[in-house]
Amino acid sequence: MSRDMYDLIGLIAGICFILALKGLSSPKSARRGNLIGALGATIATIIVFFYANDGKALNNQPLILGAIAFGVLVGVPAARKVQMTQMPQLVALFNGVGGGAAALVAIVEYLKLGEGATAAQVVATVFTVIVGSVSFSGSIVTFLKLQELMTTRPVILPFGRQLIALSAISVLATGGWVIASGGTSPLLINALLSLVFGILFVLPVGGADVPIVISLLNAFTGLTVAASGYVLENTMLIIAGTLVGASGTILTRLMAQAMGRSLFGTLFGAFTAKASAGSDAAEARPVKSGSPDDVAILLNYAQRVVIVPGFGLAVAQAQHTVRELADLLSSKGVDVAYGIHPVAGRMPGHMNVLLAEANVPYEQLVEMEEINPTFPQTDVVLVVGANDVVNPAAKTTPGCPIYGMPILDVDKAGNVIFLKRSMRPGFAGIENELLYDAKTTLLFGDAKDSLTKVVSALKAL
Ligand code: NDP
Repeated sequence: MSRDMYDLIGLIAGICFILALKGLSSPKSARRGNLIGALGATIATIIVFFYANDGKALNNQPLILGAIAFGVLVGVPAARKVQMTQMPQLVALFNGVGGGAAALVAIVEYLKLGEGATAAQVVATVFTVIVGSVSFSGSIVTFLKLQELMTTRPVILPFGRQLIALSAISVLATGGWVIASGGTSPLLINALLSLVFGILFVLPVGGADVPIVISLLNAFTGLTVAASGYVLENTMLIIAGTLVGASGTILTRLMAQAMGRSLFGTLFGAFTAKASAGSDAAEARPVKSGSPDDVAILLNYAQRVVIVPGFGLAVAQAQHTVRELADLLSSKGVDVAYGIHPVAGRMPGHMNVLLAEANVPYEQLVEMEEINPTFPQTDVVLVVGANDVVNPAAKTTPGCPIYGMPILDVDKAGNVIFLKRSMRPGFAGIENELLYDAKTTLLFGDAKDSLTKVVSALKAL
């Protein structure tokens, strides 16, 4: 295949990636967008086999096919089996592996180019190795946090700030060393130090800020792929990497805005927070718990009910049952809406996807800014497996891990009902004062079981 033909097909793959992004911008066209993106990736993978530089045969075909087979054997079952609630971990892991792969490719290419590498190629290699390695080790730490294999709270090491500064300086210094002198050892030392920096950089990020960091690392991986595309003279990698880098940066900004955070505050806020702020132990204080019948009565006599879904709704897979309840209330003349917080659940848009699966009418899903002014006129808020996104500590407790994050102001409603299994806190690991409020009723149990019982009780009224 000629270079021109290769570039032309590469351009078609690039157009597929752009159309995929466009499709992903609306829930209605998201599935189609995803398929177009997959088509672009398939084209990009296949044409490599039909093109080799200078008309030479493609080397190492068995190795490449073996790697593809391994990727398919691991990736397909992992993507099929993963629970919706574990999707962010999978994304963090795949993203990290992407960054790590780009760094490894850059190292191998650098070794191949040897003395013949141009200054621009060496700079691009160093950039790819640094950012790819940071993205790899940082993503592994976010994976461990999301999988709760380590604490989700900020980890503050003694002299943490100084350690981060020192590792950042060493990464830049060794990067400069590679550019100035070349050589393999400096590049490997640079890669190792970048891995260490990635870990130190993500450890202090805690609780509610993890989604922003995942998005940032994702943007990093995009930039790494674009830079490795430059080293490899591969237009497709440049297009795909730039798209991921640009869209990831926009998403990071939007998420930081939604959380009321500056990016700097997200990454380094833990060093200035007071360690004592926000307690994570559930205190032995009295709470008002109710039965499904009590909840059904409260709902039955309400004029307006707002349902606030959170991570627990996804865990319980209660989206169909919550819709059944909402439909039942609507048929009884109750005005029902869903209040959607931008970071409810464990990934951006998690609640929208979940509720769309249960065919909840899109008009009933109301964004935070729009629903917040309506809480004072709301009789009952039904909080289904949400906690951090309704925790007033975000407004009242300076220094706590979610301080400054805009929340759904459910405390302004007439009554608040929490469906949860225990007094355990949410992802940020902090106590929620609203659970102890006089207007709050707790219905303990798995959200799906509780909702099923409430639906039965409501039908019997
Ligand atoms: P939270 O993690 O704050 O709270 C989840 C609640 O669900 C807990 O109170 C838990 O209590 C309850 N729960 C869990 N399982 C069940 C079940 N089967 N039945 C009933 N209740 C259940 O969730 P939120 O959605 O309020 O907040 C999301 C948090 O996750 C934020 O801190 C956000 O920053 C973070 N995050 C968000 C991401 C995103 O992009 N959306 C990505 C990563 C993190 P109990 O155990 O007692 O049942």
